[in-house]
Amino acid sequence: MHIGTLYTVSAPSGAGKTSLVKMLVDSDNQVTVSVSHTTRAKRPGETHGVDYHFVERDKFVSMLERDAFFEHAQVYGDNYYGTAKAGIEEVLSSGRDVILEIDWQGAEQVRRLCPDAIGIFILPPSQEALRERLTGRGQDDLAVIDRRMDQAIDEMTHYVEADYLVINDNFDQALTELRAIITAQRLRLEQQQLRHGVLLKALLRH
Ligand code: 5GP
Repeated sequence: MHIGTLYTVSAPSGAGKTSLVKMLVDSDNQVTVSVSHTTRAKRPGETHGVDYHFVERDKFVSMLERDAFFEHAQVYGDNYYGTAKAGIEEVLSSGRDVILEIDWQGAEQVRRLCPDAIGIFILPPSQEALRERLTGRGQDDLAVIDRRMDQAIDEMTHYVEADYLVINDNFDQALTELRAIITAQRLRLEQQQLRHGVLLKALLRH
């Protein structure tokens, strides 16, 4: 049976990660994105169950105690984020790929738990572009943006831990590159042997 691939996609806020991943999963029904749990407040335009499962801290802690998370982290000091175990294994064993959009701490845990997982890091083309994108959201004041820039730089120092690096200068180009990573992974020998076992056996028959 064919097993899907687990991907982590990490990036600083403002690098365009969420839009890229959304476009990718919308155009490829073999890839899904996991919806994380978070204790942070919902931003305008976000939907519970779609962008995140927004939960109270008590609920998050009780899930932690039940060992319900595959990975979790406290991001930017005060908010908890986590990937629930429920769902991920079923999707992978159905042969579909799963993307976890998580920070470097989560990606580190996933690498330990699943050495076969593939880490992708997305970076912006410059600090100026990043600042512009953070400001462009128009949802935070200047002090918050300065703080987020510092956090973004801290997150970016972890790019070296990934397997693949995408620079999101041009959206379409970055999307093409993301798709290329996933295509290359599907073409790996072990994956092709699982997918095309019958064919490969038939081809080698004398
Ligand atoms: P935001 O609050 O801007 O949506 O996300 C803040 C950071 O938390 C981002 O770097 C995002 O990738 C990360 N994040 C979102 N969900 C999870 C998760 O389930 N686990 C971990 N470790 N990080 C997450």
